[in-house]
Amino acid sequence: MLLKLESLEEAQKGDIVRGIDKVKQFLDTLGYYNPPHENTTVFDDKFDEGLESALETFQGFHNLKVTGKVDPDTIKAMQTPRCGFPDTIPRNQSMSNYKFFDGKPRWNRPQLSYSFIPSAYYRANLQVMRNVMAQAFRTWEVVSPFRFIEAPQQGNRADIKITFAPIDGFGNFLAYAYAPGDGRLFFDEAEHWTANPTSRDQMDLQSVAVHEVGHNMGLDHSQDPNGIMYPQYPPGSIKRNLGQDDVRGLRALYNY
Ligand SMILES: [Zn+2]
Repeated sequence: MLLKLESLEEAQKGDIVRGIDKVKQFLDTLGYYNPPHENTTVFDDKFDEGLESALETFQGFHNLKVTGKVDPDTIKAMQTPRCGFPDTIPRNQSMSNYKFFDGKPRWNRPQLSYSFIPSAYYRANLQVMRNVMAQAFRTWEVVSPFRFIEAPQQGNRADIKITFAPIDGFGNFLAYAYAPGDGRLFFDEAEHWTANPTSRDQMDLQSVAVHEVGHNMGLDHSQDPNGIMYPQYPPGSIKRNLGQDDVRGLRALYNY
């Protein structure tokens, strides 16, 4: 999904402007906006108090100037391709940026298996995916006691299960992964995936893979823009290495 938001720059609290519903839906999906009625799936165009506060929290998380408006920097941040997993809103500020999922789910053994689930939506050939994922797992192995082994068979029986699926069309949400115990990892079939990006509309498989495996290991989104667990990926960018915050986060979760 590509958000077109430029017409909302002047909008402020109390206004009714076409397109505000899209902003609400976007911020709701990512955990920032609390609709007035629970389980709302249809949003209106009223710039309400809740939207202003959601914008402020979104801006705070992304280290932007906190204006509570749909200003140009905020529009840019919303249009930047990113992980589809919601951000956890910090309850109190601490020195570290890494975060865990609620209940701190984690694996109880150091050797984990992974497999590729066959799907009609694959947008990279299996050998390319094998290489990309092996490198992504290696990135986490070198800083942890974990060892990742490809399962002898494709399918659902491995700890971490990798596949392609339709998420939201081209742009915005690139991938999605679940915490330890579940272990599913989805790439959005609509992105222009490549193992070697050469233009701005291509997305680097390995960069996104390292991030999503972080979720599979139990790490939530970090506010540290240098961390691999930061949710955004500018198109065409390559970010395959862990930041210090990621390493500290995994160490804190597993006490090694
Ligand atoms: Zn993510």
